[in-house]
Amino acid sequence: MELRITKTKTPKQLPDDSKLGFGELFTDHMFNMDFSPEKGWHSARIEPYAPIVMDPATMVLHYGQTIFEGLKAYRTSSGMIQLFRPDRNMARLNQSARLVCIPETDEAFLLDAVKKLIAVDKEWVPGAPETSLYIRPTVIATDPSLGVRPSHTYRLFVILSPVGAYYPEGFNPVKIWVTDEHVRTVVGGVGEAKTAANYAASLYGAEKAKKAGYTQVLWLDAIENRYVEEVGTMNIFFVIAGVLVTPHLGGSILPGITRDSVLTFAKDWNIPVEERPIPIEEVVAHHESGALQEIFGSGTAAVISPVSHLAWKDHMLAVGDGKVGPIAQRFYRELTDIQYGRAEDPFGWIVPVEKA
Ligand SMILES: *Cc1c(COP(=O)(O)O)cnc(C)c1O
Repeated sequence: MELRITKTKTPKQLPDDSKLGFGELFTDHMFNMDFSPEKGWHSARIEPYAPIVMDPATMVLHYGQTIFEGLKAYRTSSGMIQLFRPDRNMARLNQSARLVCIPETDEAFLLDAVKKLIAVDKEWVPGAPETSLYIRPTVIATDPSLGVRPSHTYRLFVILSPVGAYYPEGFNPVKIWVTDEHVRTVVGGVGEAKTAANYAASLYGAEKAKKAGYTQVLWLDAIENRYVEEVGTMNIFFVIAGVLVTPHLGGSILPGITRDSVLTFAKDWNIPVEERPIPIEEVVAHHESGALQEIFGSGTAAVISPVSHLAWKDHMLAVGDGKVGPIAQRFYRELTDIQYGRAEDPFGWIVPVEKA
């Protein structure tokens, strides 16, 4: 498929690298592509960033038939722009698509389009330490119809947002609230997909946690309200007596690419790994016995997010003296070193945006 490029005649002013937040500013251009049953995916184009005008009956607005991805482009100290395992994001977009009846896209074509879009907006990739360009591919159902059924037509778009350092004040542990009232998703649902429903379902519990003074919610499974699933929009890890333990991907958990990278590192470093159901009572028991060394989340936005406190019912677990544990620290450093080109890339995870 051809890719048409139309450049803006009114470029925006570039932001100050040291004042970036998360997902508030967008670059000059976006990628768009449309789907119809007759033509399949067609009209691939890079064009000026602009609002999408929609009929109020457009399906995505009513029933949430939509999926997205989140990845980043990093600027290295030599000025190169590179992506981290982007093929995994393209593959996961298609996995998400299948679960909500959205037609799949050509992964190689989309990755190539993402690279070209970044190349068009390359001045927008910030260079200050630990900043990056966040990439948001999204697919929305576009039939103007109130019937509950999969849409016939879709729009796929990709927008780019320069984002600041996640830890501007240094690598900081967070306090987590374990909810036994709210659930994010359930096995048999769409918890494995990056689809709107899961995030809408998480807002109420997350707001309650914030009001109670916590940064994030730790979700338990929806059936027994017992097994640890995820923390906010991150996967979760425990270090228990030297073993790295994380919930297995049982259908209600998002298969994080950072999660997979952490597991790959752990195996490479000979840290024993267990992917299995983890009852919350077991976490409490390991804390009481002193075996619980570290807890941390993993995801593209924060990379690694260490947990200092876990509140569940009337238990308040203080983890590792409130400081960042050595294992979380090591994962954070080694992952970001590869992402920013400060270290070798032993697993072939890095994809340059433009060929040298
Ligand atoms: C995106 C996401 C993650 C993390 O996935 P990464 O590929 O590591 O960024 C974890 N949980 C949820 C619910 C997510 O949406």
